[in-house]
Amino acid sequence: MQKSFSSQLIHTGDKLKDSVSWSKSLPIVQTSVFSFDDVESLEEVYDGKSPGYIYTRNGNPVHDALNDIMSSIEEGEAALSYSSGMGAIALSIIAQVKAGDHIIAANVLYGGSFQFIKTELARFDISVTFVDPVNEDISPYFRPNTKVVYVETISNPVMEAIDLPVLAEAAHRHGAKLIVDNSFATPVISQPLLQGADIVVYSATKYIGGHSDVTAGIVVADKENIQRIYASGLLFGPTLSPFDGWLLVRSLRTLELRIRQHSHNALKLAEYFVAHPKISAVYYPGLPSSPTHTVAKRLFHNDLFGGMLSIDLAGGERGAYELLRGLETIKFVPSLAGVATTTSYPAKTSHRSLTDEELRKANISKGLIRISVGLEDIQYIINEFDRTLAKL
Ligand SMILES: *Cc1c(COP(=O)(O)O)cnc(C)c1O
Repeated sequence: MQKSFSSQLIHTGDKLKDSVSWSKSLPIVQTSVFSFDDVESLEEVYDGKSPGYIYTRNGNPVHDALNDIMSSIEEGEAALSYSSGMGAIALSIIAQVKAGDHIIAANVLYGGSFQFIKTELARFDISVTFVDPVNEDISPYFRPNTKVVYVETISNPVMEAIDLPVLAEAAHRHGAKLIVDNSFATPVISQPLLQGADIVVYSATKYIGGHSDVTAGIVVADKENIQRIYASGLLFGPTLSPFDGWLLVRSLRTLELRIRQHSHNALKLAEYFVAHPKISAVYYPGLPSSPTHTVAKRLFHNDLFGGMLSIDLAGGERGAYELLRGLETIKFVPSLAGVATTTSYPAKTSHRSLTDEELRKANISKGLIRISVGLEDIQYIINEFDRTLAKL
């Protein structure tokens, strides 16, 4: 039978051809839904008796490929991927708490996470105590209803390495779970699950993606926690697009190489800033002068300390504004972890929701510039900072 124009439009090419070979890279399964031959086969997939997919919010082969890579390099049992880091973070916390519960969180966190914990969770009657996990023992802050301890491996933006085994021990002694945002370190530098964390979360927008072209989030944990987060995620619905998942799989192939180069470059740039008279402080865990260098040395893999550092301009707020204006190829970009070296100004970007009091407590001065060190020849980057600083 001759197909009509609209039928040809609708049905041509809707079956993959059989072939003796297969694409070398992962196919992008860019579909919102999957088709079945009959009701019985749909039932079998729903009941977990047959492998298969139903609807991309429930799962997609690209998500599975990405999740398999992440759970294997983290040495976790399973992983989930979402459409943003905040999606992954919000779900991993929500899955652990109910109204009336309490959580403990580091007082220096990514601004969005800080705000989520402080204001969104409060609306659902979940209280929080913010503590300084670097200089304080967190034990006295536990309550009978404390369910979660939430920290970042390397705090943002003052780059302190957190002693995860100590926090994990305290959390578990009080029946709470330790959730760690490992976005700045990546599994190349830190595998928090092996140091006692229960759940690891990522803004995959950062180093996992690494090219400033994807917004995504990932959670890695044991099967039981992943099942709880999966159930919440299915209903809150921050589904990762298969194309973005595919970009992350592509990016992960070079993660280790990139993190080595980011880290080597960052250490050289940090050493340059330490010796510069117009820089009053340098925050980088790889510097022996860093207050958490010993912790970083003990916990981080391969003597790598990451690509993120911050500097305090001796010239304060004015000095910071002038440096940002003066730099040419080094762009002012309110994010991080791309291939190019970029700057950010935490007081007005990632941490703009903090009050002056909170900024002070988090050690974020108005002269603080955060630098995401890229993959360039580092001498070229040092020269550009040197030229620009000379003009201040
Ligand atoms: C960017 C970032 C987030 C938020 O992730 P999105 O992908 O922007 O939603 C969370 N934690 C850290 C450490 C970040 O840098």
